[in-house]
Amino acid sequence: MESNSLEVKGHRFMRELLSDIDEMLIDTVREFVDELIMPIRRELEQSARSDFKLIEALQRRLIPLGFQSGFLPEEYGGMGLTSVLTASILAEEFGRGDASFFCAPAGGFWAMRPAIFAENTAVLGEFAPRFLGEDLYIACFAMTEPHGGCNVENVDMNGLGITTRAVLDGNEWVINGSKVWPTNSGIADLYLVVCNTDPRRGDEGIALIYVPAPIDGFSFGRFEDKAGFRCSREGDFNFENVRVPKEFRASGPGRDAELLHDNIVFARIFSAAWATGCAQGAFDEVLSFTKDRLAAGKPIRQHTIAAGMLADIAMGIQVGRDAYVNVAYMYDHPEAYGPRHSKHMLSRSSIAKVFCADAAVTATNKAMELMGSYGYVTDYHVEKYWRDVKIIQLWEGGAQLGRLDIARGIYEYDQFYHNEMYETLRVQR
Ligand SMILES: Cc1cc2nc3c(=O)[nH]c(=O)nc-3n(C[C@H](O)[C@H](O)[C@H](O)COP(=O)(O)OP(=O)(O)OC[C@H]3O[C@@H](n4cnc5c(N)ncnc54)[C@H](O)[C@@H]3O)c2cc1C
Repeated sequence: MESNSLEVKGHRFMRELLSDIDEMLIDTVREFVDELIMPIRRELEQSARSDFKLIEALQRRLIPLGFQSGFLPEEYGGMGLTSVLTASILAEEFGRGDASFFCAPAGGFWAMRPAIFAENTAVLGEFAPRFLGEDLYIACFAMTEPHGGCNVENVDMNGLGITTRAVLDGNEWVINGSKVWPTNSGIADLYLVVCNTDPRRGDEGIALIYVPAPIDGFSFGRFEDKAGFRCSREGDFNFENVRVPKEFRASGPGRDAELLHDNIVFARIFSAAWATGCAQGAFDEVLSFTKDRLAAGKPIRQHTIAAGMLADIAMGIQVGRDAYVNVAYMYDHPEAYGPRHSKHMLSRSSIAKVFCADAAVTATNKAMELMGSYGYVTDYHVEKYWRDVKIIQLWEGGAQLGRLDIARGIYEYDQFYHNEMYETLRVQR
């Protein structure tokens, strides 16, 4: 694919923000994506339709490159790579190839971050060594419940939307409840489960508890059949009196809620980067296609109307990239920008996530228009990016809760704002 792009790739974002190791990782991932993922994007999705063997074989090749354990603290055998800027830029690179391919390794980082930030030696001592092996060790961050994912993420609900119950019995947590949709569910070796110890305690009742699998009382339903994000697996599972040591709670009352909100902020930044990568992948395809394909005797991209559409796509990608890089840098520097779980950071990360996801949905849609029917067939991959970006727009609070969270950082927005006029009118009726 030759797009004859004049863009200077090294200038996509300020490289002054990166360390030498970031630069090295980006080059490694770019090469991995270009050489190993791009040529077999269709085959990877076909593998997801059958046995996942091709996907898993390629994921195993990421292990010696440090993608399974690099985020762990050095004293536990990792490289201490917890920078969200680093993780996001790598997510963009993987998104350019196949975002869902990166779900299995990314799940480990997402699930282990609370234990790392809480410096939970029991959890790190027990599970960190397992990420260091030569085979895949997969983790899952389980938040969403059948009655609604946004109810769990909505900070105004103070944990009321979390119905998975954890009760302390002696030295063990006993967990009961159901989760739906978590990435890597059904295949994960370790689950970080968002629980509630007591809904009357508000945020203090929120508990993040690590559960290794298989374990007595854990039952898995079935894998979902999705439009996109095919190289990852999601499903529903149930806990019936599952018992784990009490030390497997990430931290304690109050702090677990902060760690949950921190993980949500992280996921929104990461999702923004993923969406940007998918949009970039589609953009590269459409630039190349419209260079060679003629309409009315000249390349499509030499028509003014097409040039304007391509410029709009480029704008969405670059402004989105600037937004996520900016907020990722702020997130990595709480000493300057405040706590990572703050409403301010939730708002800023949601700006990046909502903007990038919307821009990517528009970009893939417009790219398809510029390619006519060829955009709709699997040969040119644009339809794949189109299917993949849609879920990024829908998850992590979706486009609506995302916007409410943006408002929360701007003024005292309260979902349950007491409205006296409404109450008076209601009583009068
Ligand atoms: C491929 C894939 C991967 C996923 N990975 C994970 C994962 O790793 N871990 C995990 O826990 N979950 C995961 N999910 C679940 C996903 O995050 C949720 O589906 C998502 O957060 C939305 O929840 P819901 O589908 O229950 O929608 P609902 O919560 O029912 O929301 C439906 C609609 O109502 C809107 N809405 C909700 N609440 C409000 C409100 N208070 N005010 C206004 N509007 C509102 C929403 O924005 C949305 O438009 C995944 C889902 C998919 C498809």
